Amino acid sequence: MCFSIKKVVALMLISAVAAFAKPTIYILATGGTIAGSGSGELSTSYTSGTVTVDKLIAAVPQINEIATIKGEQISQIGSQEMNNEVWLKLAKRVNELLTTGKADGIVITHGTDTMEETAYFLDLVVKSDKPIVMVGAMRNSTSMSADGPLNLFNAVNVAMSKDAVGKGVLVTMNDEIHAAREVTKTNTTAVDTFKSPNTGKIGTVFYGNVKFYMAPVRKHTTNSMFDITKITELPRVDIVYSHANDNADFVNVALKNGAKGIVSAGMGNGNPFPSVLKALNEGAKNGVIVVRDSRVGTGETTRNGEVNDDENGFVASDNLNAQKARVLLMLALTKTTDKAKIQEIFYTH
Ligand code: GLU
Repeated sequence: MCFSIKKVVALMLISAVAAFAKPTIYILATGGTIAGSGSGELSTSYTSGTVTVDKLIAAVPQINEIATIKGEQISQIGSQEMNNEVWLKLAKRVNELLTTGKADGIVITHGTDTMEETAYFLDLVVKSDKPIVMVGAMRNSTSMSADGPLNLFNAVNVAMSKDAVGKGVLVTMNDEIHAAREVTKTNTTAVDTFKSPNTGKIGTVFYGNVKFYMAPVRKHTTNSMFDITKITELPRVDIVYSHANDNADFVNVALKNGAKGIVSAGMGNGNPFPSVLKALNEGAKNGVIVVRDSRVGTGETTRNGEVNDDENGFVASDNLNAQKARVLLMLALTKTTDKAKIQEIFYTH
């Protein structure tokens, strides 16, 4: 009897300690406006990535009250400089921190220009269910009403949330939570720039209060087919943007310079100009994977619509925008050059 009382007390103590133990959240900083500084509160000119991760963390002391925060500087760049090397470094570090149990969740600070691409890349290659949250700011750290501090506080709360487990990489900005595959930057300057035009946001975070309303269903993280453990470089995939009175020069240059894949951001439902279509067809015949996408920004580019993908040997992009189709095609090419298999990847990821 006495033994069992001791056991119960011990169990109660263990659960009490567990309840009060703070989760460990790593903040991996890459640069961007959230780490930018300008010449004054109302100045529109500023430089991205000048503030270090330690200063970012020090600017939001509230996050240390709710979590054990550890910071690492992965890069210090404006995200228009983002590249495959940083992506692979970031993905490998995230995998290491999460799979070894060093971190309970990850927050990645990032410029907003290419945040959606990095988010989708990580969504496809990270092998963990734990929360991974990307965050940035539209106003630099020295501007009036800078949005970075509250965005960072909210991102840490999302990264600590049990409800964020299994939802893949998330983007938390302006009190909203978006899924990596769906989110895109829609406005050059506004704080509510991030939207998921095909599906809507999946949750909200209001002063740290996290609520989810939906979950992504396409393959990501632990059930995605991609593995970058042994990958040191990614194949070249270019995007070609269509317009009236277009010409095939950009497609021909991409082919000549060794692109393994081309994403065509066509007009409407993915329709390229006739001379561009001909050049893309030549490329496909020579083994380059052509993904037919749209410049419209929402909706599906439907297979065999006005363009016959079967006859041309093209892949249809489903409803990914061109920059995300590029990310998926690069990764697909690390697995196969079979067009039917790549089409299946676009319908499942
Ligand atoms: N060009 C900057 C970047 O993407 C500014 C965008 C931002 O962070 O808001 O890093």
